[in-house]
Amino acid sequence: MFELLKTDPESGARLGRLTTPHGVVDTPAFMPVGTQASVKALDPRELREMGAQIILGNTYHLCIRPGMDILRAAGGLHQFMSWPGPILTDSGGFQVFSLAGIRKVKPHGVEFRSHLDGSPLFLGPKEAMEIQRLLGADVAMVFDECPPHDCSAREARAAVERTIRWAGECREQARAPGQQVFGIVQGGVNPALREECAKAVVALEFDGYAIGGVSVGEAEADMLRAVEMTGPFLPPAKARYAMGLGTPAQMVELAARGVDMFDCVLPTRVARNGTAFTRRGTFAIKGGACKAEFRPLEDGCGCFACRHFTRAYIRHLLNVNEILGLRLVSIHNTHFFLQVMRDIRAHLAAGTFGAFRREFIANYVPTRRVLAARARAAAADAC
Ligand SMILES: [Zn+2]
Repeated sequence: MFELLKTDPESGARLGRLTTPHGVVDTPAFMPVGTQASVKALDPRELREMGAQIILGNTYHLCIRPGMDILRAAGGLHQFMSWPGPILTDSGGFQVFSLAGIRKVKPHGVEFRSHLDGSPLFLGPKEAMEIQRLLGADVAMVFDECPPHDCSAREARAAVERTIRWAGECREQARAPGQQVFGIVQGGVNPALREECAKAVVALEFDGYAIGGVSVGEAEADMLRAVEMTGPFLPPAKARYAMGLGTPAQMVELAARGVDMFDCVLPTRVARNGTAFTRRGTFAIKGGACKAEFRPLEDGCGCFACRHFTRAYIRHLLNVNEILGLRLVSIHNTHFFLQVMRDIRAHLAAGTFGAFRREFIANYVPTRRVLAARARAAAADAC
């Protein structure tokens, strides 16, 4: 299932391979997010062409629409969306966080009120695993409780206890043929809770392990700390997945901390605002600077958008609201995230990851928001 091929002696970064019923995933891997059975604005042929080996789906959202009757009749999620490769499905645990206003946490699961029409949906360990079985996910995630980063110590403890209990129940449910199930470690930035949760979930012997409770509004330093305090309790021979992360620079830093799998909505989300990722950070394409720039979004990029179109043309498309504009930026951004992973893997294989990491971080200018958050964290540390 997961083979650990090489570990970087300098950093702990890992080169690996995850084998699933729908194909092989080379790790570290970036998984484009297809919450609603579509990676926004990209079709499966484009995803294949840019080297995506696995994509994400979401239990809660697919269960609300189109609903399990349709997905069952379609023959599962792969068939429905015509994606032949591996799929990992989130269990709906993240929606316990993101839809906090329309759900109630109960001992056996979570009662949601549909964000569309208010109709009830109950998701617990049994329901989430049954849905993921019917979807035919190659990798299913256990149903967990993801609390906000600023919750009280009591809430954090309760979430960890429920997450452990629910993981045990998920472990017992039926699976699709060949389906792997990953456990999830919660515990926020509390080292004792992270350790307790990791040890209990690892004792249940899942096929891989995710670090959850990150990407929930915490500071970058807290996110890195949460990953660092979880890693030592995870078995080296199993895949490690950091849920919902991150920016390209964060992914390089997380890979250096032994993370094998990533998912993030950023490449397609910021594409819709006309923002492109490059090795020097992000830039806004709609600005006047690109008006007469007859060069690609990023020089040397091998993506379809950069091989055929100029910044000036893409800026024009975005400014006149032509759909092709956001499609081209989505293609470039998603390709860029996948390319960063290819680079990480190539440098791990060649034994040059340390130099690559230093150069990447030195060149990558974080957004003003990230820099401001870092400055606030440094000031708080100094106090
Ligand atoms: Zn490109």
